[in-house]
Amino acid sequence: MDLLLGDERRAVVAYCHRMVADGLVVGTSGNISARRGELIAVTPSGLAYEELTPELVGVHRLDGTPVDAPLPPTTELPTHLAAYRTTGGNAVVHTHSTAATAVATLVEELPSLHYLVALFGGPIRVARYATYGTDELADSVTAALAGRTGCLLANHGTIAVGDSLPKAYAKAQYLEWLCDVWLRAKSAGEPRVLDAAEIDRVREKLGTYGVTGKDATPGPR
Ligand code: 13P
Ligand code: ZN
Repeated sequence: MDLLLGDERRAVVAYCHRMVADGLVVGTSGNISARRGELIAVTPSGLAYEELTPELVGVHRLDGTPVDAPLPPTTELPTHLAAYRTTGGNAVVHTHSTAATAVATLVEELPSLHYLVALFGGPIRVARYATYGTDELADSVTAALAGRTGCLLANHGTIAVGDSLPKAYAKAQYLEWLCDVWLRAKSAGEPRVLDAAEIDRVREKLGTYGVTGKDATPGPR
């Protein structure tokens, strides 16, 4: 019998393995989900990524109720559901990547230090701190994601949302890279920032960027 949401569950496993290999998480930190219609495929809580199989990726409704989930879902399910509600995206990647987590202990917003903040809709907000896995954290993320497809979580990590899992994952990588650049620039001086009109211009332009490559489109979504 075909696995419910088989494509999404297999993709979640593949991107979890990549997230470890790319150093965006350590241990069992982080989590990933992908949506099809009214259902999401989402990582279980606290399971070593090397033990993850498509069958162990749970399927839940957008209200969080399980449909086919052999293990308890990620503790951050409320935050994933909030990210879907706020953005209308199709995939959510949560990391504890190093530079981004460091920046999330320092500022309330990552400024427009590079044109690629336009991938996220503009300067990247830092969601107010709340204990991991709480509805309060989901509320903070809802606020930080207004008009954005990514945010930092104060003293915690990152959230990236995309139209597809490849896009959400690419954004998690771009977010880490932007934060790394900011830390380096900030340690050497006061980074120059781009104005809102330029970020709007780039956001428009990115809408048609890379459209010939298979899933290579960073695009704003
Ligand atoms: P889970 O193992 O429950 O997904 O938690 C990891 C995490 O990053 C919590 O913020
Ligand atoms: Zn986390």
